[in-house]
Amino acid sequence: MVRGHEEGHKTQRAGWLRAAVLGANDGILSTASLILGVAAATPNGSGIVIAGVAGVVAGSMSMAAGEYVSVSSQADTERADLELEKKELKSDRKNELKELAAIYVGRGLQPGLATEVAEQLMAHDALGAHARDELGMNAASAPKPVQAAVTSAVSFAIGGALPLAALFVARTMLMPIVAGSSLLFLALLGGIGAKIGGAPIPRAAARVTFWGALAMGLTSAVGALFGTHVG
Ligand SMILES: [Zn+2]
Repeated sequence: MVRGHEEGHKTQRAGWLRAAVLGANDGILSTASLILGVAAATPNGSGIVIAGVAGVVAGSMSMAAGEYVSVSSQADTERADLELEKKELKSDRKNELKELAAIYVGRGLQPGLATEVAEQLMAHDALGAHARDELGMNAASAPKPVQAAVTSAVSFAIGGALPLAALFVARTMLMPIVAGSSLLFLALLGGIGAKIGGAPIPRAAARVTFWGALAMGLTSAVGALFGTHVG
C-alpha cells in the first residue's frame, strides 16, 4: 500500500518534470537552429543576436499559447464528461450501478462482491467513483491550463537562453561553438529526461543528439543557400 502510494507520487512528478524537460529541449533546439541558420546566411553579428532573442520570445509565447489551448480543451472535455455522468446518475442510477459493477468484474472481482463494492462506493461518492473508475480521472492529474502554459514558456526560455549564452561567449568560430554546446546541452537534457522516465540513458541521449544535429545541419544549409542568393 505504502509502496503504491509512493509510486503514484513519482508518476505525478514525472509528468510535470517531463513537460519541463521537453520545453527546454525545444528551446535549445529551435533557438540554436535559428541562430545557425541566420549565421550561415549573414555575417551580421547584431542581426544574429536579434534573431536569437526574437526566437526565444516567440517560441516561449507560442509554447504557452499552444499548451494553454490544448490543456483547456482537455479540461472542457473532462467537465462535459462529468456533467453527462451527473445527469446519468440522476436519471438512471440503477444502470449506473450495473455499469460500475461490470467495470469491477472486468478488473477481477466476483459479480456479487463487485455489486457490493459499487453500491458502497456510490453511497459514499457516486460521481467520484464514476469519474475515477469509469472515466479514468483523478484530482492529481486534473488539467491545469495556466500551470501548463507557464511551465512550457519558462522551460522553453531557459532552454533557449543556453545557445544565446554560447552566442555571446563565442568571439570566433561562432557556428561550431553554438552547435557543439547546444548538442551537449541536448544530450545532457535527454539523459535527464530518460532518468526521470526510467528509460535507458545512452539511447535517449543519442536519439536527441541525432535529431538535434539533423535540425541544425538542415537550418544551416538553408541559411547558407538563401544567404548566397539574397546577399
Ligand atoms: Zn457512469
